[in-house]
Amino acid sequence: MNEFIGSCMCGAVQYAVKSEPRLSFLCQCRQCQRITGTGHSAEFMASEKDIYISGDLKFYELTADNGNTVTSGFCPTCGNPVLKKSSGYPGMLFFHAATLDNPTVFMPQAVFWGVSHQPWDYVNPNLEIKEYA
Ligand SMILES: [Zn+2]
Ligand SMILES: [Zn+2]
Repeated sequence: MNEFIGSCMCGAVQYAVKSEPRLSFLCQCRQCQRITGTGHSAEFMASEKDIYISGDLKFYELTADNGNTVTSGFCPTCGNPVLKKSSGYPGMLFFHAATLDNPTVFMPQAVFWGVSHQPWDYVNPNLEIKEYA
């Protein structure tokens, strides 16, 4: 059984991913900086059909730096951002890695939106940095 199960801070929203994540990455775009309150998000992508979610998320829609419509899903009770959807990746969900019960299983492969990185936000120098996503 995989270990990609997680929840929001209060536990009202819980999820399980029934496959290996398709892509794990850090994202330094301005929207991820705002959503997380720091220099980058840490996310993994999975297909909606491989995911089980219980509890209700509230969604906030925003426009990404590349013009995609990104929808940020967060718990209405504790406010914890849990996942995102992007019009550029239909059928996919992007989970915030720190919502995992065991965040150590998250292994980022790349850094996206290095173009908007903050000088105080240091990331693993072994990761490939991509200008855009
Ligand atoms: Zn919650
Ligand atoms: Zn981002």
